[in-house]
Amino acid sequence: MAASEEAGARQAMIDACLKMNHTGINQGTAGNLSVRWKNGLLITPSGVPYDEMTVDDIVFMDMDGNYQHRLAASSEWRFHRDILQARGEVNAVVHAHPIHATAFAICGMEIPAVHYMIAAAGGPTIRCAPYETYGTEELSKAVLEALSGRTCTLIANHGMIATGPDLREAMWLAVELETLCKQYAFALQIGIPRVLEAEEIDKTIEKFKEYGLRRKPRAA
Ligand code: 13P
Ligand code: ZN
Repeated sequence: MAASEEAGARQAMIDACLKMNHTGINQGTAGNLSVRWKNGLLITPSGVPYDEMTVDDIVFMDMDGNYQHRLAASSEWRFHRDILQARGEVNAVVHAHPIHATAFAICGMEIPAVHYMIAAAGGPTIRCAPYETYGTEELSKAVLEALSGRTCTLIANHGMIATGPDLREAMWLAVELETLCKQYAFALQIGIPRVLEAEEIDKTIEKFKEYGLRRKPRAA
């Protein structure tokens, strides 16, 4: 039972990787993802094409960054491990290089509250973590800071990170973030985007707690 549960978790990660590329939020072997597992994390291997990845290729790593595997864990294991360690409510981390989110990240721009959906990010802005070389501790530190009080962040001259209580929600947020960035990019070409008040986003964050599948069953 336990083994098949782990095989299921690994397969869900491969399915999510394929989805990242099929939905257009990522290209090639860029991006990586992790889920909290037992006393550590399951993380995608480094540089393996997603359509060739098998469940055995997913690496189990402990919280000290130790693992035994023939493949190398994702080069970004530090920020995956550090986010899961620092944020108890997070059980899945998705990193990708989507076109529109990365275009804003290339410009070092944060995303303001130009749509109420920014509430999914947990606040009225989506920050842009400063540039640091990929795979470094410095990048992990910058990312953790930018994620403070937020569920997602841009990374300057690189891409984005989305987190969630499970892989399904982290993937959902990754797509929402890219959609928001695409809408903002179009709006900037049409006119001057209007930014919503921070209080309005606070109100929306409260409403989201009861939205969709999170809605509690009605009392009989
Ligand atoms: P990995 O293939 O090592 O996961 O790296 C991809 C990436 O996006 C690095 O930032
Ligand atoms: Zn990357």
